[in-house]
Amino acid sequence: MANVTRRNFLKAIGIGGAAAATGFGCAANGTVADARSAHVVVVGGGSGGATAAKYLKRFSPEMQVTLIEPNATYYTCYGSNWVIGGHALMDDIKHTYGALKDRHGVNVVQDTVTEVDPARRTVRTAGGATMNYDRLIMSPGIDFRYDAVPGITAADAERIPHAWKAGEQTRLLRSQLEAMPNGGVFVMVAPGNPFRCPPGPYERASMVAHYFKQAKPRSKIIILDNKENFSKQGLFMSGWEQHYGEMIEWVPSSQGGQVEEIDAANLTAISDAGFTRIKADVLNYIPPQSAGAIAQQAGLVGDTFWCPVNQLTFESSIHPGIYVIGDSSVAGAMPKSGHSANNQAKVAAAAIVRELSGQEPLMPSTANTCYSLITPDHAISVAAVYAYKDGTISAVEGAGGVSPADAPASFRQQEALYTKGWYDGITADIWG
Ligand SMILES: Cc1cc2nc3c(=O)[nH]c(=O)nc-3n(C[C@H](O)[C@H](O)[C@H](O)COP(=O)(O)OP(=O)(O)OC[C@H]3O[C@@H](n4cnc5c(N)ncnc54)[C@H](O)[C@@H]3O)c2cc1C
Repeated sequence: MANVTRRNFLKAIGIGGAAAATGFGCAANGTVADARSAHVVVVGGGSGGATAAKYLKRFSPEMQVTLIEPNATYYTCYGSNWVIGGHALMDDIKHTYGALKDRHGVNVVQDTVTEVDPARRTVRTAGGATMNYDRLIMSPGIDFRYDAVPGITAADAERIPHAWKAGEQTRLLRSQLEAMPNGGVFVMVAPGNPFRCPPGPYERASMVAHYFKQAKPRSKIIILDNKENFSKQGLFMSGWEQHYGEMIEWVPSSQGGQVEEIDAANLTAISDAGFTRIKADVLNYIPPQSAGAIAQQAGLVGDTFWCPVNQLTFESSIHPGIYVIGDSSVAGAMPKSGHSANNQAKVAAAAIVRELSGQEPLMPSTANTCYSLITPDHAISVAAVYAYKDGTISAVEGAGGVSPADAPASFRQQEALYTKGWYDGITADIWG
């Protein structure tokens, strides 16, 4: 959140000083007289949820905040392409919840939420607990729509990794590339919009090409794309030409890129009404996506597979008292990125604390930056600043932009250093 220091924020919402001495209690109907006596439950300890839990405690230290996350270890998707390309290790993208617990006072529960009851304001978990909440923040990320293309099911991901959630899937794709012969074909099927991380597939192709160039130079990468253009396209394509020659072939939707069927047994993608069949040695099918399954169970999705929210606060426009942030939400012009989720979490946390203290939400200013490595020494970026206007989040004209097209190698190298700096900064902000 721009221009809001913690001290100003606390002043604005009336917490601290004399106000902090007054005691407030919970009203019987689920309404709360003050943020300090409230219990906020956060579902999902990823980029959005972990930030939200931490910042709720920073904004209102006496508030009870419970974060429910099934995994003790979180692997960031950002950086996972570097692992796939052999430029980083799994340990480099690994984060845990110790600081949230010990430093910030978040009650971290290792469990899976299986049911949300918006009327009773309760969540149930796989471990058998039922928990009351005054406000709920949902940041469950994405799920996959395996029913969108025939011939492949979720079970096939054990052989045909999506690697669009980091962890075991990242390891699997990396090991398949290692086992692939020199001269093999890596086929990626990229989804149509909207999906998690718009530049992600193209950074992945770059990192795989980086690996092939060193270890398997006769190999080929084919991207079958369900779109006509993609994020930072000109910069990616000129970087590919410069570093990888003709190793990467990008096929747009209108030229056979729109995959209509997968022959999973034969690792083959089928398009052009069956006329084009592309056989892979390693097939990376990234399915179309939707809000996380628990958001769907809770009835938070609209008719677009994603959760509509009041974009000023991120409160669900379907169920009051529930806030949906990160990839699951519909957030105007903001892309589905870790940086967006991190910013949205702070907006929602601030809005909840203010609402519980009887105050109007602040007018938020948010941002997104996304760095992509083309080689370990050549990075490109896109950045934008967003403001709430006429009911939606819009990009602020003249702010942000992409890396210049004609920058020298030293500029690209500098951006590669910023990439690592961005990673260290944002992960420290989320889990540190
Ligand atoms: C290859 C790739 C590269 C990327 N690179 C970048 C990048 O460079 N920059 C960038 O900003 N973004 C990047 N992203 C996007 C970024 O990873 C996501 O946008 C971001 O993680 C979304 O945050 P989130 O909180 O919505 O979801 P997540 O971070 O996925 O967190 C969701 C959490 O919810 C938990 N959860 C799910 N269901 C339940 C349940 N029922 N109960 C309890 N917990 C549950 C999950 O275990 C998970 O920990 C990349 C993504 C990919 C795939």
